[in-house]
Amino acid sequence: MTPGSRVLVVGLGVSGEAAARELLRRGVEVHAVDAAHSPALAARAEALRARGATVGLGRSTAADVDGVDLVVTSPGVPQDGPVLAAAVRRGVPVYSEPELAWRLAAGRIRLLAVTGTNGKTTTTELLAACLGALAAGNIGTPLVSVLGADEPPAVVVAELSSFQLQFTHTLRPEVAVLLNLAPDHLDWHGGLDGYQAAKARVWRSQRPSDWAIVNAEDAGAQAIAAAHPPPGRRAAFTLSPPRQGQVGVDGGAIVAFLGEEPVEVVGVGELAIRGPHNLANAAATVAAACCAGADPSALAAPMRGYSAGAHRLEVVATVDGVVYVNDSKATNPHAAAAALASFGGADDGGGRRVVWIAGGLAKGLTFESLRAEVARYVRAATTIGTAGPDLARLVEELGLPVIQAGTLDVAVRAAADLARPGDTVLLAPACASMDQFRDYAERGRAFRSAVAALPRREVVGGQ
Ligand code: ADP
Repeated sequence: MTPGSRVLVVGLGVSGEAAARELLRRGVEVHAVDAAHSPALAARAEALRARGATVGLGRSTAADVDGVDLVVTSPGVPQDGPVLAAAVRRGVPVYSEPELAWRLAAGRIRLLAVTGTNGKTTTTELLAACLGALAAGNIGTPLVSVLGADEPPAVVVAELSSFQLQFTHTLRPEVAVLLNLAPDHLDWHGGLDGYQAAKARVWRSQRPSDWAIVNAEDAGAQAIAAAHPPPGRRAAFTLSPPRQGQVGVDGGAIVAFLGEEPVEVVGVGELAIRGPHNLANAAATVAAACCAGADPSALAAPMRGYSAGAHRLEVVATVDGVVYVNDSKATNPHAAAAALASFGGADDGGGRRVVWIAGGLAKGLTFESLRAEVARYVRAATTIGTAGPDLARLVEELGLPVIQAGTLDVAVRAAADLARPGDTVLLAPACASMDQFRDYAERGRAFRSAVAALPRREVVGGQ
């Protein structure tokens, strides 16, 4: 990455563009490629060419690797595709954008990292709020723009996905959080082993003084810690009363038991985020903040003040006594299960209260793991997208009514017909959105619009 060296940037999404810009700024020769072609990519390509890069759109081949010293790849670029396969074959190093960022930071920052199948964004934001630090990475601002700056911030909390971790080699967070692990992105990682190994890279380069924080109650996270043990110190989080070395929940409060004595941090009822999964995210945050040196008594205020971002269990409106909830960010079965449990009602004696809208792109996953939650919490379902028929079969097998609506606006109208006052119509797709939408946010907005367009007698709240 010295001036004059030649780097191939694969993928011109937000992070690829940021990596290319940062390298160009440092006098590196950049060739960028993206297998896709769109007006947005063309505009990015033009901007990079103006700064001196060469850019190829519409295809990427093994020849792109000719003469390059380094490849910087983007999330989603297939590992066995022509470019990365050629790089590996020829021994050209491949970095993800966070690995590049880490090297550019050259030890000037303290890094905390959050990974897991679900809850990364929520925990990263919460942890950044607790530490007064900047949140970056998979969450928005690419890490390379933050860590590569001439004067980077002192502390950064990074959300890291498995795609990004797959190509990290030296990135070393002083605190690494593993929230949970359930099957996701198995098509890309070539199976569960590959997905687990990628997640474990979050602590692979840690030193003995660094911390790994692992979910004590998540079998997937525990399996990773057993197969790929963290080299540094360990703490854990749980929803039970904590043992020493853990943060847990006791007497209606989050309690940190990381030193000699347990310390009450914040009342569960004071948190604005809901559901047991979010309580786990909050406990993980407390553990990470304390291991990073925060005073537990200073955490209550930021924890109380945090509410989850859009498209995450977002209450959209109440129409004729039915609550409409947008959890478009539930892009895998594990997240959808958490959403069903948060709004199901069966646990408070109220019976099954969810009319569930699910479906989209399955990413090589099956939905068997949702069977128990569906049986327990779902009154009826409507399905959308390519995975719709598979999900419908699961619901039917449980003897529940299901309408294969196909599209989201039809699904919302059908769900409204199926729901009774007191029910929740919950969009928790358990699938990615890209078969019908640009991304989960567009799907969430389409849900809001469909709810707003419902014929109604009485409306409370909403947007
Ligand atoms: P990520 O960044 O990992 O996708 P988010 O915080 O954006 O995580 O949440 C993604 C989805 O997963 C949302 O639908 C949310 O309600 C759900 N979720 C959040 N935390 C958890 C958790 N600890 N376990 C299961 N599902 C979760």
